[in-house]
Amino acid sequence: MTAISRRGFLQNAAFTSAGAALAATPFESLWAREAAPKLASQSLGPQLSLITGGGGNVLALGSAEGALLVDGGARAQSAALLKLAMKSVGARKVHTLFNTHWHPDQTGSNEPLGRQGARIIAHENTRLWLTRKIVVDWAAKPFPAFPKVAQPNKSFYTTDKLEFGGEQISYGHLGQAHTDGDLYVYLPKANVLVTGGVVSSAGWPLLDWQTGGWIGGLVGAQDRLLKLANDSTRIVPANGPIITRKDLQAQRAMYFEIYDRLVKQLVKGMGPDEAWASGPAKEYEVQWGDSRQFVLASFRSLWGHYAPDA
Ligand SMILES: [Zn+2]
Repeated sequence: MTAISRRGFLQNAAFTSAGAALAATPFESLWAREAAPKLASQSLGPQLSLITGGGGNVLALGSAEGALLVDGGARAQSAALLKLAMKSVGARKVHTLFNTHWHPDQTGSNEPLGRQGARIIAHENTRLWLTRKIVVDWAAKPFPAFPKVAQPNKSFYTTDKLEFGGEQISYGHLGQAHTDGDLYVYLPKANVLVTGGVVSSAGWPLLDWQTGGWIGGLVGAQDRLLKLANDSTRIVPANGPIITRKDLQAQRAMYFEIYDRLVKQLVKGMGPDEAWASGPAKEYEVQWGDSRQFVLASFRSLWGHYAPDA
């Protein structure tokens, strides 16, 4: 993966394997707060819907050419999810699918839609991840490479645009944040900003430092989103309900505070457990729940960016 320079943060993207792996946690339990989420659709405008309960959030936009989806939910829910998405926006097939990043809660419809000839757009780093086996400490087993037909067939590096369903859609890379291949998709007419894993409104997010995510980059990516949004923008996170720019600002301030505290502990020579024991996210737990996973991953994510004795 290429090292990405963002907003003055250090750029060394080399990963280190030091430290004990987190105990394997079932993928879903990291963020799915609701026990058995039910598929549901919420209208956001003419031929525009948010589909929830099928893994991560899915945005669907209908047009005469078919539908455009931002993310495709999880594999197990894909068939039902696609059916509901098509019904909600009055489309018969999916023309374009965005992968906001490589995680299974976003890429579960790649294979069926790839087989139907859909255009699958992703950042180049996401495309590359999906071509190889991925080993991460938050999943009990490695994720195998996607078959060719399920891999993104259009990738980009910085930003791009496309016209679809009467919208001048813009999309862009968010650097190394939740992973190293995160993208946003912005629909100016509807004023909807889909953020992928860089934003969560359903508890602490997974910070996937082993595929290039890091907490400093998460702050930088949220700064970028704050510039794209205005006070009436509906911000669609990867998980949880739609939020406003004000909510995002508060989230950004929280991540920056945690980042700042963890860097101070790292330069003092603390390890992940000591850093966690100092309670760097304690006051946020009332709203966000147990922060342990997030703090440990955030601390480990600093290793590729800060050398304590530098
Ligand atoms: Zn994710």
